Order: sequence, then structure tokens, then C-alpha cells
Amino acid sequence: MTNLIEVVYFVAVALFILGLKRMSSPRHARQGIVWAGAGMVAATIATFFVSGLENFGLMIAAILIGSGIAFVSGKRVAMTDMPQMIALYNGMGGGAAAAIAAVELFKMSGNHADMSHSMIIVQLTVLGAVIGTISFSGSLIAFAKLQGWLRKAIRFPYQQAFNMAVFAGTIGAGVYLAFAGSEVSMIILFFVLALAFGVMVTIPIGGADMPVVISLFNALTGLAVAFEGFVLGNAAMIIAGTVVGAAGTLLTQLMAKAMNRPISNVLFGSFGSTGGGSAEEEVDGSLKPIEASDAAVMMAFAEKVIIIPGYGMAVAQAQHKIWEMSKQLIENGVDVKFAIHPVAGRMPGHMNVLLAEAGVPYDRIMDLDEINEDFNTTDVALVIGANDVVNPVARSNPDSPIYGMPILNADYAKNVIVIKRGKGAGFSGIENALFYGDNTRMLYGDGQEMASQLIQGIKEL
Ligand code: NDP
Repeated sequence: MTNLIEVVYFVAVALFILGLKRMSSPRHARQGIVWAGAGMVAATIATFFVSGLENFGLMIAAILIGSGIAFVSGKRVAMTDMPQMIALYNGMGGGAAAAIAAVELFKMSGNHADMSHSMIIVQLTVLGAVIGTISFSGSLIAFAKLQGWLRKAIRFPYQQAFNMAVFAGTIGAGVYLAFAGSEVSMIILFFVLALAFGVMVTIPIGGADMPVVISLFNALTGLAVAFEGFVLGNAAMIIAGTVVGAAGTLLTQLMAKAMNRPISNVLFGSFGSTGGGSAEEEVDGSLKPIEASDAAVMMAFAEKVIIIPGYGMAVAQAQHKIWEMSKQLIENGVDVKFAIHPVAGRMPGHMNVLLAEAGVPYDRIMDLDEINEDFNTTDVALVIGANDVVNPVARSNPDSPIYGMPILNADYAKNVIVIKRGKGAGFSGIENALFYGDNTRMLYGDGQEMASQLIQGIKEL
């Protein structure tokens, strides 16, 4: 039976890796999810046959309740709420790894004889515990911020020193558990400190740094699961955790590169600082509105139009209308491209997913590096629901929380049309100089409604 279980684990792991590979393109990402999911089902069933397991009733009940909640919430979640759901589920992964570690540590505390011959296992347990717990509480804070339940960046005096003290305490308690003993009181103190550190390290992070943090927690959860896989001697957990850890690390690096910030700067840079720019930041110029019919004329007679989607397009679910409008322009001989900023929206790849869903061909979708040079020769940059990712303050104001983040150079286009509902700020909460530019016109309204009016305007020409 053990051999059969190992074979099923091997197949499951192959499905995880192949599934991940298929997720590299929106064309087959859906299939990739199904493959990885099938692997997970196979591994879960096989685990029931591992010898020495007890509490089958409890396990089945937990799986049924968990799957039921995930199924219903997965079906119901709005596309715009997907990022916080991912943060929440990621936190659950970290929490599960931490829970395994807690059970093992409590078992060890009652049986010191066992500890002597498995020091390395104790150390791996503690390592997985600290990483999983930080990822758990940190992800919950990220969830609360994305959900709008918590302020974006919470700061207080001596925050850096306080956080360092909590961190030192966590590591101290962890080292004690890993090398010296496993008293129940120390285990509890260790988990309380690790939970507190996850919260403390995440609350000051605001601005536009959240994507880096979310992908970092994703990597940490993977790592914690892998460590606990060693503890339980479960190959599927080790490999699945390592795959998530590696993918999360790569994503974190990509996100940090997109923000032009070292990860250490994201995590520790804001500690104790006043946070720099604010929503009240002074911007010269005035906001100049435009009617949809005039904006339609501008685009229909342009040679080159670049469309920059952002979070507001997701809120408005305007991607289908925007593509319909683009097709009209293309029929009129206009060169239409879509420019995607790596942190546009609220999750990595958010805009790519929406545009793929609307049927925009991949060769019209350009990354920041590929398209930024083109704005100089563009007649109209159409910004729909994007704000932070086109804010020139990132280039000009060293005090701004988004200073240094590469942006899409929409302001270099001959004309800029911005679709948004009003004066709402972007995620980082700061004013946008682009909207006040001489070459910018504001098309106020819901993204989908405005896209419909543009379609109508172009039709009537
Ligand atoms: P922003 O959040 O900067 O701006 C979105 C804009 O959309 C708002 O200014 C809002 O203005 C407008 N808007 C909202 N609803 C509508 C609607 N129905 N119709 C039209 N407009 C609407 O979005 P960006 O995509 O430019 O930037 C993403 C930000 O989110 C970055 O700061 C990024 O760091 C952060 N982030 C990204 C994550 C990721 O992984 N991609 C994860 C977490 C955070 P108004 O209210 O006036 O309409």
C-alpha cells in the first residue's frame, strides 16, 4: 500500500508541475487549474490510506466544510474581490502549516524522549511554524486592507524599533524551542509573537507596495508547507510547497522589479517614516472635462491609440465594451494597443485576465517595457480606471509613496483621455498630476457606460 501511495503522490506532483506550466499562458491557464486540482484530489485521497491515521470522521467533516465554503465563496466572488480572496486563502495555507507545526510541537512538549533523536525535525517544525504563522496573520491583514476594512498604511512612533523587538522575541522563542526545550508556555509565547510580527510587518505597508507583500506571503506559505511536509514525511507536501515557494519567490521578484524597489525596502523601508506624500499633495493645473462624443472623434481620427486599463475597468467590468470600441477603431484603420502595467488592478495579471476574457488578441497586449517608448508617437492615450500606474509623480516627487515605481508614460502622448467616475484616488491614495495636464481631458462616468457612449459616438461619425 505504501508504494501505491507514493505512486499516487508522484502522479499528483507531476500534475501540480504540469498544471503550473499550463498556467503560464491565459490560453491554457484554466486547464492548468483543473490539472493541479486533480492532483490535489488524488493526493488527498491517497493520504487517507497512510497507516496509523485516526479521526477519519473529523478529517472528512473538515474537508466537507472547507470544500463547501470554498465552493460557494468561489462561485459567488466578484472578479473585483478576487485579490482579497486570494490573500485570504493564502493565509489559510500558512495557517494550516502553522497548525500542523503547533500540533507537532505540543506533542513534543509532552514527550521529551522523542525529541532527542529528531532534533532536525524539531528545527524544521519551528521553521515552518514561524514562516507559516507570519504568513497567516500577515495575509489576513492584507485581506483586510484590500477589502477596505483597514487603513492602507498604519504607522506610529518608534514602529521600527517595536517591530524589531517583536521579531527578535519571535526568533528568540523559536531558537529556544528548536534547541533547548518545548514547554507549553514557550510554545504559546512563540506563536503569539509570530502572529504579532505578521500583523506588525504588514500594517505599515501601503502606497503601491501591496502586490510585493502579497506575493511574498504566497512564497512563505509554500515554504512553510514544504517544511511541514518534511516533518510529516509527506513527499507530496514537500514538492507542492516547494513549487509554490519557488513560484511565489519569482513572482515577488517580478513585482519588486516592477515597483523598482528591493524587497527589504518594501518590508522595512516604511517603518517609522511619516509616509511621504498624501492625498492632499499639491498639483498645478485644472481638471478639464470632455464629452464622450468629442472623445470618440479624437480617437476615430487618430493614427495610434494606446488603451491603459486599471482597477476601475475591473470594477466597471468594461473590458468587453472597450474591446468592442477598439474593434471599431481598428476597422477605421487606427493602430490600437493595450498597455499593461505589472501592478495594474489588484492582483498580478489582473488586466491580462480581463482582456483575455474579452477576447483581445495577445499581440495587441503590451507590457510596460515593450510599449513605454511608443507614447511619444501616440495620438491618444485612453486611460480607463487606471490611476497610480500612470501617475507622473512617481518620476518627479521623491517624497511620494510611489516614487521610483516605473509608470506607463501616458502623459507623453499627444492627447490623454481619462475615464473615471469622479475625483476618487487610486490605491495609494495620492493625487495624480496626469489628470491636470494640458493635454488631458477627463471623461467622467462609470467605465462601462462611458465605453458604450464612445462606441455610440464612433458609430455616429
Ligand atoms: P488605482 O487603484 O490606482 O485607481 C483606480 C481608479 O479607478 C480610481 O482612481 C477610481 O477613480 C477609478 N474607478 C473605480 N471604479 C470605476 C468605475 N466603475 N469606472 C471607472 N473608473 C473607476 O488602479 P491602478 O490599476 O492604476 O493601480 C493599481 C494599484 O493597486 C497600484 O497602486 C498597485 O500597487 C495596487 N495593488 C495592486 C495589486 C496587484 O497585484 N496588481 C495588489 C494590491 C494593490 P474614481 O473613484 O474617480 O472612479
